[in-house]
Amino acid sequence: MIVFLALGTNLGDRLANLRLACDFFEKAGLVTVDKSSVYETEPFGVTDQPWFLNQVIKGECAFSADELLSVSQKIEREVGRYETYKWGPRVIDIDILLFGDEILESEKLTIPHVGLADRNFVLIPLSEIASDFIHPLLKKSVKELLNECEDDTIVRPLLT
Ligand code: AMP
Repeated sequence: MIVFLALGTNLGDRLANLRLACDFFEKAGLVTVDKSSVYETEPFGVTDQPWFLNQVIKGECAFSADELLSVSQKIEREVGRYETYKWGPRVIDIDILLFGDEILESEKLTIPHVGLADRNFVLIPLSEIASDFIHPLLKKSVKELLNECEDDTIVRPLLT
């Protein structure tokens, strides 16, 4: 299954957190097919916190969606996430954006991710590697969703 994952971090060594999460995914059996650039992004929601680094990963794996969620949550713990508060600072946040073109809704999991179409920090990196991918529920391409998105928070490529 081809999957797209969104990584976000705004605590500690943010670049190292992204790298570590990718390494853990590879070790868990997810093959990285493509990666977006790393973007530096203004916090969404709670604005009084450090800026985030965000990156979208395209991977291939044999996990079910539930297994992928468990793997992601285990990696969040391994990289060092501890709970703060909703939309608060975090060492690493991993969201499953897309799981092939499947539509899933359970207590634990909503796929495509509910916030996918509303957030520049997701749409900008995702459009870099999957601009023609059609959102299975909204039936629009990532490029179209980005054009229509009303989020005005800043998302800029990280200069290294
Ligand atoms: P967060 O605090 O953003 O990491 O949200 C975590 C919660 O969102 C978890 O308890 C998941 O069960 C739930 N969740 C629902 N849909 C998704 C998704 N597509 N990707 C990751 N977490 C999800």
